[in-house]
Amino acid sequence: MQFLDTRDGPSVSLHQAIACGLAPSGGLYVPAALPVLNMAEAHHAQTLAEVAEFALAPFFAGDLLAPHLADICREALTLETPLKALMVEHSYVLELFHGPTAAFKDFGARFLAACLARLPAGQAGSQETTILVATSGDTGAAVAAAFHQREKVRVVVLHPAGRVSARQAHQLGCFGDNIHSLQVAGSFDDCQRLVKFALNDDELRSQLTLSSANSISLGRLLPQMSYYAWAALTHQRARQQPLNVVIPTGNLGNALAAVMARRMGFPVGKIVFATNANAVLERFFAGDDYQPQTSVATLANAMDVGAPSNFERLRWWYENDLELQNAFHAQAVSDAEIEQIIRQGEDRYGQVWCPHTATAVNVLEQLRAQSGDWDADWAVVATAHPAKFETIVEPLIGRALPVPQALAAMLQRPAQHLAMAADEPTFKQFLMQQSYRAVV
Ligand SMILES: *Cc1c(COP(=O)(O)O)cnc(C)c1O
Repeated sequence: MQFLDTRDGPSVSLHQAIACGLAPSGGLYVPAALPVLNMAEAHHAQTLAEVAEFALAPFFAGDLLAPHLADICREALTLETPLKALMVEHSYVLELFHGPTAAFKDFGARFLAACLARLPAGQAGSQETTILVATSGDTGAAVAAAFHQREKVRVVVLHPAGRVSARQAHQLGCFGDNIHSLQVAGSFDDCQRLVKFALNDDELRSQLTLSSANSISLGRLLPQMSYYAWAALTHQRARQQPLNVVIPTGNLGNALAAVMARRMGFPVGKIVFATNANAVLERFFAGDDYQPQTSVATLANAMDVGAPSNFERLRWWYENDLELQNAFHAQAVSDAEIEQIIRQGEDRYGQVWCPHTATAVNVLEQLRAQSGDWDADWAVVATAHPAKFETIVEPLIGRALPVPQALAAMLQRPAQHLAMAADEPTFKQFLMQQSYRAVV
């Protein structure tokens, strides 16, 4: 399949789109088509890796990565994705935090790393590639974990100073080796702007093989379809009903994957976007013009996004804004509501929620109260383990949370960061130094 540039640059094949991340025009790559698959052919696909292979085959068709698809899925998508029934009837949670860094970003990061490792010589990933990642918390650690100590890859992670949790920051700085952690004096949007700048800077591109692992990367977006496809098929087989989902949303990468899975015929029902107080999507889906904003800091920091980078892709699939607005619902949740949901979590659902997941739980409660429909099956998507945000969660539930083993191991290693101003020349200088260091 070919991949089109949302800003009308030349189309490319899959491995090219994965290798460069952002299109040279500054646009995003989108699949030329979303084929509708025959679900009768999905019956042999049971595990996440098998469902992924079935769902992703059309995108890989004709590409030099196609012969590797099965191996890539088996290497990267071995993580658990339990769909658990909650104490409230017709309510489920799809847990996406059982990977090495305890957030859903592990799926995309591992898949991207597995793809890049299989590109032939001369392509990104095979030749001293520098991967740039702006992170509002979880992406950076997932990418760092996926690429740590891989040969010929250097990862530069930018995070907004003071805007990520202490454990998230520790995770970012604890890898060392080929992973560089930059602490940027600014917001996540500043970090994202610096990465976009570097990827489009001719001088940098002539000196370094640059790639991006942000949620704009197709290599992350595509595999995220697989857990929605898997959960919807599993639910359909068990209950003969589509699975409606509420998705904690920031840059719209996770939710966009659900949209794509539904378009391809997987039995995903309604898709609702839950955001924190950054309410750009709520206003747009309520009928306003799309108006990106400066992000504000919230308890759900990995969703502190004022200009969702995948919005351009979502818009691409729809004729006009009205059609898009009619297809989805988005709702913003305040910090006070997040706190209340976490406080009530164990009594009401038998669960401890992370602040991101709590936004989805709140939105589901509101949807049900407003519609009076308590019989449809809904899943909230749990995007991170609550122990990653212990300083928020533990005071609310009044006890300490056990830390997942992989996270505990990372917290025991020392962490190091380099502080940096949020401006382009400084970042460029840092990257140029990296290129000289590579030559020496
Ligand atoms: C990244 C992240 C989100 C938001 O996902 P997007 O793909 O950016 O919409 C939500 N929750 C957690 C825990 C995250 O790390």
